Amino acid sequence: MQKLTEKILEPARELPVIHETDLCVVGGSCTGAFAALRAARLGLRVAIVEGQNCFGGVATNAMVNIWHSLYDATGENQIIAGLTEETIERLKKRHAITVKNSRNHGHNPAYFILNTDELKIELDEMLTEGGVQPFLHTLFCMPYVRDGELAGIIVENKDGRGVILAKVFIDASGDGDLAARLGLETFYANRLQPGTTCAKIARWSDVEKFYDLSKLYSEHRQEYDLPETFIWGAELPGAIDVHMLSASRVSMDMSKAGQLTAAEIEGRRQVRAMMDMLRRYCPNADPVLVQLPSSIGVRETRHVRCQRHLTGDELLRGMQFDDAIANGTYPADLHHPNGAGITLMYLDGTQRLACPGLPTKESMWREPMEEDPKFYQVPYSAMLPQGGQFPNLIIAGRMIDSDETAHAAIRVMINMNQTGEAAGVAAYLAMNGSVGFAEVNTDKLRQILRDGGSAVQ
Ligand SMILES: Cc1cc2nc3c(=O)[nH]c(=O)nc-3n(C[C@H](O)[C@H](O)[C@H](O)COP(=O)(O)OP(=O)(O)OC[C@H]3O[C@@H](n4cnc5c(N)ncnc54)[C@H](O)[C@@H]3O)c2cc1C
Repeated sequence: MQKLTEKILEPARELPVIHETDLCVVGGSCTGAFAALRAARLGLRVAIVEGQNCFGGVATNAMVNIWHSLYDATGENQIIAGLTEETIERLKKRHAITVKNSRNHGHNPAYFILNTDELKIELDEMLTEGGVQPFLHTLFCMPYVRDGELAGIIVENKDGRGVILAKVFIDASGDGDLAARLGLETFYANRLQPGTTCAKIARWSDVEKFYDLSKLYSEHRQEYDLPETFIWGAELPGAIDVHMLSASRVSMDMSKAGQLTAAEIEGRRQVRAMMDMLRRYCPNADPVLVQLPSSIGVRETRHVRCQRHLTGDELLRGMQFDDAIANGTYPADLHHPNGAGITLMYLDGTQRLACPGLPTKESMWREPMEEDPKFYQVPYSAMLPQGGQFPNLIIAGRMIDSDETAHAAIRVMINMNQTGEAAGVAAYLAMNGSVGFAEVNTDKLRQILRDGGSAVQ
């Protein structure tokens, strides 16, 4: 990268107001889309701004197609519902989802494999039915602050720059772009989880039938300049012999433009290297690369400093919060940025270190408890930016305030979806009560979430 210091002054110019609304959501993953839909169903006028060509975020743009269990660790009680469940039911009608059963350390008795292209269309339909105003291929650029208040956002799309004015805002950009450009305090974990370029590969079954992929990878990866990693994947519901493979591992800060560019190229290089390796060392298989994602999958970038910093210890010991807006059981899933494999930390106190080519190591991450927690909770206060300079802003999604371990658990979509729904309902309450997000009555928030189908406890 060139190191340039010269600066130029962009001439001041008038920008058209292209839209005026109650709520503006920045970022259109399921987190943002569910925030928008919840608020719209409660009567707010809502706009949603997404840089890519579709809604769904990592699920659609990065082709990550697994939603985990909606049940607690016993498998008896449903702890997640709301728009996640509604979307699952809608996808079932289109044969676009497979329900899987597994007993993984007493957790995740069932999980779901999605056809994420069908999910794209489903989200279009859901947002259209909800009357949400979509802006696709539209990038949030800068906040518009008027008299010290967040009054709008400046966006850029094929029409050039324009302003969307709104009364309340949800930053669901994953990277916390709106919060960061407002100058709010943000931070990065010491070890950022790496990103992954997924790939859809056809004629996959012969690879699995004849070869031990993990062993093969660990034996030959260095010949192809491939990093130590963790390999997983999933079939595509209904598709014959197509596999979604998640194997590449790119450790960069993808909230920075230069590193994001480099990460995209490195992720694709790793996919090609993997294909070359398979062709050479799997002579009885003939896999074909059929699709790459429109974006590398980003697991973690910046977090926004919020009223509460959620720790892994609180989370995995099952701390209950008065302002809880989401439940989960997915283990802390730490993809090590500079080393082999992943560590999974479970609510029952066990942990597993899984590395390709090596036996899985099991141990306890904590001493035994009288009773293991059945699920964990995410508090609303971890979504409220500290300082309160911009009381009409809330954040939802992977940038919420959490430490490395808590983030590793809550980052999965069934959890993030709930933060979106909570932010959408909170937007309605903030607007209706003419209060800031921090003043929203959390009992009411939780009640409206329940009334709208969520399983908040
Ligand atoms: C490779 C990989 C595998 C994973 N596996 C699983 C799994 O199996 N199951 C699971 O549940 N979770 C999984 N996760 C985690 C999960 O997908 C993410 O943590 C989750 O999607 C984060 O949601 P989010 O809404 O915070 O962010 P994102 O999904 O990243 O969404 C952010 C959205 O904002 C948009 N955006 C960003 N900046 C701007 C801007 N300036 N202007 C306009 N739009 C903008 C982006 O285009 C994107 O659509 C995985 C993640 C990765 C990367």
